[in-house]
Amino acid sequence: MFILKSEIGFDSAHYLSGYEGKCGNIHGHRYRLIAKVKGTKLKEIGKDRAMVEDFSFIKLALKEIHDLFDHKLIIEDDATGRDLINRLKGTPQQFECLLVSYRPTAEEMSREIFNIIKKKVINIYEVELFETPSNSCIYREED
Ligand SMILES: [Zn+2]
Repeated sequence: MFILKSEIGFDSAHYLSGYEGKCGNIHGHRYRLIAKVKGTKLKEIGKDRAMVEDFSFIKLALKEIHDLFDHKLIIEDDATGRDLINRLKGTPQQFECLLVSYRPTAEEMSREIFNIIKKKVINIYEVELFETPSNSCIYREED
């Protein structure tokens, strides 16, 4: 089997509603995302001959993830999250918030990222999302 690996980074802030401890505050991460694409056979014809997938095609999907999350404040769409957004709207600064249907942990974000990439790159194998250089979550579908 072949496994291709491609990586991007993005900077985001997130808010974990209901978290007790210092991460209960709004804070940011330099997220590092590694996507792995698998293939048992190489393409036999065309411009992608002898490839599992064109790296530039994978990069396009990763760019979409970058543009979705980069320099945004990620907030769960619950009562606390909506209240927070309403308070931010009352300030002169135009904050860019991303309201999501899940608690924006590394686990939920990696699952969401996997599913977004899978719409374009169907042979995605796994994604690994680093919140810090030493903490990451790997998401892949069960075999
Ligand atoms: Zn965090």
